[in-house]
Amino acid sequence: MTNNNQLASICVYCGSSESGPAAHRELAAELGRLMADRGLALVYGGGRAGVMGAVADAVLLAGGKVTGVIPDFLMQREHGHKGVTSLEVVTSMHERKARMAELSDGFIVLPGGLGTLEELFEVVTWFQLGLHDKPIAVVNPDGYWDSLRDVLDTAVEAGYARTENANIAAFVDNATDALDKLAARATGLTP
Ligand code: AMP
Repeated sequence: MTNNNQLASICVYCGSSESGPAAHRELAAELGRLMADRGLALVYGGGRAGVMGAVADAVLLAGGKVTGVIPDFLMQREHGHKGVTSLEVVTSMHERKARMAELSDGFIVLPGGLGTLEELFEVVTWFQLGLHDKPIAVVNPDGYWDSLRDVLDTAVEAGYARTENANIAAFVDNATDALDKLAARATGLTP
């Protein structure tokens, strides 16, 4: 994976469950509208439900392009979205993650659960290892991800993580800041 310094497609990692706060799905919808306005295509896990479904629906409603990547065994469980521009059905989680990363120029994390955390840490640790240089932002509404920020800071204080690696993912408050941060980092304007 390499960065061509152009943002055309953004991968969004977020929760697949409907059980989270409605505000998180509204945040996802706001991000989706902004992405379509800016001509940014969405790459995501291909589901119809939860925060994932909300971001995809908003991009589509605003006339944007959406690519979903979903393993065949999750088509039922995560309610594969039939209305996306392109739905790629793959055979494994590893293939899904590799394909999502390959198709994307940057990554945005919204509220979610364990799957979201796993996806975030993979792209952060791959950046740390120099396997890609695509920008990453975590949207932290109402402090949802504060405890994650604390874990990263604790690892720095203990000497297990370098400050610059703990800051590979930029924590931001809202969807606009996430897109602005990715754009600035993609062009190398800000750390
Ligand atoms: P969650 O945050 O648990 O709702 O999961 C968000 C998305 O991450 C869902 O599409 C899950 O299928 C996906 N996911 C869960 N575990 C993994 C994993 N180990 N690798 C990649 N994606 C995962």
